[in-house]
Amino acid sequence: MAWLWSIFFLGVLFVCASITLLAVITRDDGKGQDKGRQTRYLDRRRHYFRPVPRDEVLDGVRPTPKAVILALCRNSDLEKMLGTLKSFEDRFNRKYRYPYVFLNDEEFTGTFKKRISKLIKTKSDAKVQFGRVPAEHWGYPPWIDQERAATGRRKLATQGVPYAESESYRFMCRYYSGFFHKHPLLGPFDYYWRIEPGVEFLCDINYDVFRFMARTGKKYGFVIMMSEVAASIPTLWSTIMEEFVPKERAVSGGRLTSAINDLHSKEMRLFGGPYRYNGCHFWNNFEIASLSFFRSRVYQRYFEILDRQGGFFYERWGDAPVHSLAAGLMLSADEIHYFYDIGYRHDPFTHCPADFAFRRDAHCSCDPFDPTDISAGPCQLQWNLNFAA
Ligand code: GDP
Ligand code: MN
Repeated sequence: MAWLWSIFFLGVLFVCASITLLAVITRDDGKGQDKGRQTRYLDRRRHYFRPVPRDEVLDGVRPTPKAVILALCRNSDLEKMLGTLKSFEDRFNRKYRYPYVFLNDEEFTGTFKKRISKLIKTKSDAKVQFGRVPAEHWGYPPWIDQERAATGRRKLATQGVPYAESESYRFMCRYYSGFFHKHPLLGPFDYYWRIEPGVEFLCDINYDVFRFMARTGKKYGFVIMMSEVAASIPTLWSTIMEEFVPKERAVSGGRLTSAINDLHSKEMRLFGGPYRYNGCHFWNNFEIASLSFFRSRVYQRYFEILDRQGGFFYERWGDAPVHSLAAGLMLSADEIHYFYDIGYRHDPFTHCPADFAFRRDAHCSCDPFDPTDISAGPCQLQWNLNFAA
């Protein structure tokens, strides 16, 4: 009889052990993920995680910020734009219903407008407007030497610079650098969120980012910092330092105006200043910003100097470094925000929030260890070191 009891006892022990083991394995606290080589990587990122703002708190911001979702695109971007909108609506706008403005240098086709409108209608029913870029904001200004521009394009092609030979890409960069904020359809708005065809939002965004911007006085928000292709901007930094900055100084009788930062400031250190540019910039295919920043007189003076120099065409200045260096010169650190809690992908890079519990609660569909995630890249670390309080 004793042997029967022994078997029974061993059986019970086995079942208990199995249940315990199973519970440990499937435990959902993320600790299992933080082991080994991953620990250091996460440590470098984790301290940026603060609780995301709650809507109840942000609801104190009245009235609702005047904000718009902005997309510049071509008719041929339709399919990819529908992909972007599905993700953007599901993750954010279904809940907040901010209106859209779509801009194009050509007329949008009926099909484009119909399919975009229909998708948005079924998701949030937010207001949608389609507009055309004014001809005077798209193309060559009269002072550009066409031959020199063509030579410049060929030179960049031999250096393997992306979009080296594209003229339309340059029109687009110039438009986003100096004109988009003047479009009449953006007139009523104070903030915008730039979206692009083919991007994806990887986590639920459970608070109103525009209320957050308004409440905290933020003027510029980003998710990815990275390095620019140096050959596309050989004279951007020197133009800013040798033409724009001295003029601003002259305006105020030798001292810097309050409109721009000290060149030794930590805002400028982020970009390697004051003596050189490290090429770091906010990757602005994602961009949440205040329109008043771009509408300011100082930004207008800055853009006019850059535009006169011709680097948008003789080189291939991107709107990303142009916006970023303006932010470094004209904003204070606490007016710039790293949206570490917004999971985002624009080929070929990703930003995935590192915090496990957050990813679980926000239903993220991303992996911070994915090789395309550059949230611990050198430019982002530069930010983290200088700005993470
Ligand atoms: P990348 O992200 O630097 O590779 O550049 P994209 O091709 O994504 O262009 C940036 C944004 O400008 C996207 O929203 C594009 O749809 C838009 N875009 C680029 N070129 C043109 C153009 O010639 N016409 C219009 N209407 N939009 C453009
Ligand atoms: Mn893009």
